[in-house]
Amino acid sequence: MDRDRCSTLIAKGPFAKTPRRCTAASAHPSQRHRAYTRSVLCVAGLLLFAQLEVGAAAFMVAVPRCPETADHCFGIELFVVLEHGKPVRDPAWWSAQVAHANALFAAIDVVFELADVHFIESRWAHIHSRVMRDELGRRERTNGLIHVFMVRQLDDVDIEGNLLYGVHWRDRRRTETRWIILSARDSGSTVLAHEAGHYFGLPHSTYPVSVMNKAPRDDPPWSERIFAEPEVARAQHHRDRMRESGFLVPRFKRGPQVRTRGASDPRPL
Ligand SMILES: [Zn+2]
Repeated sequence: MDRDRCSTLIAKGPFAKTPRRCTAASAHPSQRHRAYTRSVLCVAGLLLFAQLEVGAAAFMVAVPRCPETADHCFGIELFVVLEHGKPVRDPAWWSAQVAHANALFAAIDVVFELADVHFIESRWAHIHSRVMRDELGRRERTNGLIHVFMVRQLDDVDIEGNLLYGVHWRDRRRTETRWIILSARDSGSTVLAHEAGHYFGLPHSTYPVSVMNKAPRDDPPWSERIFAEPEVARAQHHRDRMRESGFLVPRFKRGPQVRTRGASDPRPL
């Protein structure tokens, strides 16, 4: 076993609080038991790491890369909550969400692709307060990308007992910083498109055809709702503003990735 690699993995990984060195052998018989325990933990850490790598790859391949002709190919950095070792929603669900968003955003000449994926701890599975929404997004992330968090349950912070499918959330300390939180509750595929509409400057609307109109109605069904013409124009305007300011960086213009952390988040990821 590569001891240095194992030490690094354990130091960074889920077993960060366990001894950092993996020593299979010891010169002192009294230390053999501890060395054995460390080796077991090391192997377990490597196996878990490998499992997460495979899991991350499944999300990455579930979303096609943008065509090279795309002028506005924007990357998503996805953070997925793990519960009992499993993501709260599987790659097929995520794939359908991105595909639906891409179908609607074609009118705005925008394509989304998955730039990176991370798994986060189960304590983020249930987002029940404004403070949690803030803290969820105040973590190390890559500039120029759209940050999306996939959780199990997202509570409505305005109406007690109400559950949400998703939210476009602004950090209350730095409102220019924002991200999307998706609840695993959505059994369809439209919540990412709707929240991305907010991300691109669209409020809720009353256009009958619009995915931004939340008024209960059967016609058209959610699966057939699109952006109304005035919404397309407004979203294009926001697209250009975000691109010109460097808030969003199209993939084919993307340089070395720069990662930053929310200033008020003292914890490492
Ligand atoms: Zn909304």
